[in-house]
Amino acid sequence: MADASSHSDRHGPALAVRRLRLRLEAEGRAGLTAVPRAPSMLLASEDRAADGDTRELTFAAREDRDGATAATEARAAEAARTLKEEFAEATADEDTRDLTVAARDDSEASRAARNDAPTVHVKGPGLFDEQSPDLEDGSSPEEALQRIADEVATCARCPELADSRTNTVPGQGNPWADLMFIGEAPGADEDKQGIAFIGRAGQLLTKMIEAIGMTREEVFIGNIIKCRPPGNRNPAPEEEANCVPYLARQIEVIRPKVVVALGGVAAKYLLQTSDGITRLRGQFYPYMGAKLMPTFHPAYVLRNYTKDTRQAVYDDLLAAKAALVE
Ligand code: URA
Repeated sequence: MADASSHSDRHGPALAVRRLRLRLEAEGRAGLTAVPRAPSMLLASEDRAADGDTRELTFAAREDRDGATAATEARAAEAARTLKEEFAEATADEDTRDLTVAARDDSEASRAARNDAPTVHVKGPGLFDEQSPDLEDGSSPEEALQRIADEVATCARCPELADSRTNTVPGQGNPWADLMFIGEAPGADEDKQGIAFIGRAGQLLTKMIEAIGMTREEVFIGNIIKCRPPGNRNPAPEEEANCVPYLARQIEVIRPKVVVALGGVAAKYLLQTSDGITRLRGQFYPYMGAKLMPTFHPAYVLRNYTKDTRQAVYDDLLAAKAALVE
């Protein structure tokens, strides 16, 4: 990654972030963009008092105060209801990739509890100053994304993945999306259908997107790795390095305002850090001219279906949505 900057601090994330921002500003680069946390602003006191089994319904209630339309409210209420059902069904989850992700993010959470300073290598602004080479021939973003997907479909940079895949999973969605989600790698369902986040974690991602009053069709959803790692193993570093150029081209074509990194693998790769998702999430980092918000992977949420985890993801996504209009 170009333009690396690192920071470590033992005095807590707020101080670490402030110092990193000052340092980046001193170096003439944009600092971290802190966005006010959503919950305290959006949760009315009666919601806080009613906090309990029905807490997931506040997904819908918060949207109420956010000026949502009746249709959006209904969608959010449905999303909140189904989130609860998802939890009930979570133990029947057969996509073991989800389990792998959840277990990994779990151990990161306990590491983060011991050590709390993020060390990131941010990719600074300005990469959107030049037009994407994929658009130089006059192609529309849609055509450019299709061309990238076609290249991915015949890619053999990772022989093991090319041999074992059923379909490549280039990512899909709105070629003009302001908001982009980046996960780790396709699981079994995605490999079967060639569509990112279509399995259980994907269904929860859909609900999360709907809970902030948006739809899957409005955003773009992709992964760091575009083929399923066999046996749901972690993507190897060389596989990440082989595949990320496709993702970078997609980002350059789409030019999202905000990128949400789903889970530790995506956040760590994009920010070139060894810090875990628990420490990284909840704040923005400059990335390729966009703002990058790391949050928990939906598979982790499925496995840790506590109100704190759901609240954290909701806060992160709401902050991401708010940043679209800044
Ligand atoms: N998990 C991911 O990280 N990506 C997918 O597309 C599906 C599950």
